[in-house]
Amino acid sequence: MAHRELRWAIVLPSAWFRALKSYGSLPDVPVFAIPAAASASRNLISQEAKEPSLVTARDATTPPATDLIPANVPTPWQSDDPSGIRIRDVRVILTAPDGIRLVVVKIETSEPGLYGLGCATFTQRPLVVKTAIEEYLRPFLIGRDVDDIEDIWQTSFVSSYWRSGPVLHNAMSGVDMALWDIKGKRAEMPVYQLLGGKVRKAAPCYAHASGTSFEQVADSARQLMGQGFRHVRAQVAIEGMSTYGVAVPKDGSPRTAYHLRPVQEPWEPTVYCRTVPRLFDHLRTELGDGVELLHDIHERVPPIQAIGLAKELERFNLFFLEDPFSPENNGYFPLLRQQTAIPIAMGELYVNQAEYVDLIKDRLIDFIRVHISDVGGLTPARKLAAFCEFFGVRTAWHGPGDVSPVGHSANLQLDLSAPNFGIQELATFGERTREVFPGCPEVRDGMLWSNEQPGLGIGLDEVLAAKYPFPDHVLNGAWPPVRRLDGTVITP
Ligand SMILES: [Mg+2]
Repeated sequence: MAHRELRWAIVLPSAWFRALKSYGSLPDVPVFAIPAAASASRNLISQEAKEPSLVTARDATTPPATDLIPANVPTPWQSDDPSGIRIRDVRVILTAPDGIRLVVVKIETSEPGLYGLGCATFTQRPLVVKTAIEEYLRPFLIGRDVDDIEDIWQTSFVSSYWRSGPVLHNAMSGVDMALWDIKGKRAEMPVYQLLGGKVRKAAPCYAHASGTSFEQVADSARQLMGQGFRHVRAQVAIEGMSTYGVAVPKDGSPRTAYHLRPVQEPWEPTVYCRTVPRLFDHLRTELGDGVELLHDIHERVPPIQAIGLAKELERFNLFFLEDPFSPENNGYFPLLRQQTAIPIAMGELYVNQAEYVDLIKDRLIDFIRVHISDVGGLTPARKLAAFCEFFGVRTAWHGPGDVSPVGHSANLQLDLSAPNFGIQELATFGERTREVFPGCPEVRDGMLWSNEQPGLGIGLDEVLAAKYPFPDHVLNGAWPPVRRLDGTVITP
């Protein structure tokens, strides 16, 4: 209210105001409540009178809220279009065609033959995700209009009151991707078209080179380069230690990943930090500068050692260095940035926006690397990609074997449509996985290509999927601990 309109206002100390209000004795003219400390000074009273802390006598009577809504305003939005296609059922399919525990959601609709698939794979806790979907999201969503992707995401997000986390986000991701799949099928377009269309013909990928010696890693990289890959991640096993990210089937079983063996070897960060710069010295000598090299620390060393390693690796011109710190050590990023210009990729363990928003807006990382199902699906991921674009951060969505082909297709839809795409991690799909999930994205010339089918373009042979149940494992697929020589458990 403008100051000149206050000719008939009454100014009262706040204690007087509260007393009169409680007795319903406020007059029908504007009344100002002045804080007790302010009322001691005429100047402050005068200043307060100019501020908009106006409470009228009418407010003091606290009318019912409905009096404030004009009668001709329509009811709040709700999806009540009787012609809409409805969610008829939400089903969870568990399968492990190549030994990795995958969780896929299938949404069936009121339109015969129309369904959608989404990835909800939290491979360390798949049965908990299944319960979250079947016992909570399914009854919450049956009957909803399949068109309302954003509203379904928002309402599902708060329906548990306490929200976020990998279990709930993966459950929501399964539903979310399936709804995008359905929308694409209805539009008869691949999902990337619904996101704005292509800005590139295909998604360049990086492949994984590894071995137990520098020579083996170099040979592995040469092999990939010969297949057309221009980006190669290089990891080397540390003798006698439990090294993550190296394809070493030491127990001879192709169905038991090395990191799932119940008894793990110890791990010492210093040995690793001394070895890795020598590996890249060897690789640059052997492979030259014509290949983009990447490396993943996998959050396995103390933060200050990770900073030292990053500084040492800077001279090898890496495309990026991945996951230098665990999410609990995000505070080290400003220190890392002050020490080196090595490009940083971060984020496969992030689930909540509070973990990554500041890193992006403060330009402390160069590639966002979240696992799309762990942040809640395509709906939040497309917003995250756009947010990163404003800050010059590129995308490098997590694309390991524990993402189903449906999830890889979701990655690809964003890869093709986001201007700030950086690189895509490639997981090679085994023969059995290709049979269970017809339509897997194709890899050619070091790039991932869309199959141009509507929606996410991936099918699911449920009969075949049922032939590959989760493999037996003493911890049901949970990761056994890896310890330092003194027994300390290491991250991640
Ligand atoms: Mg990683």
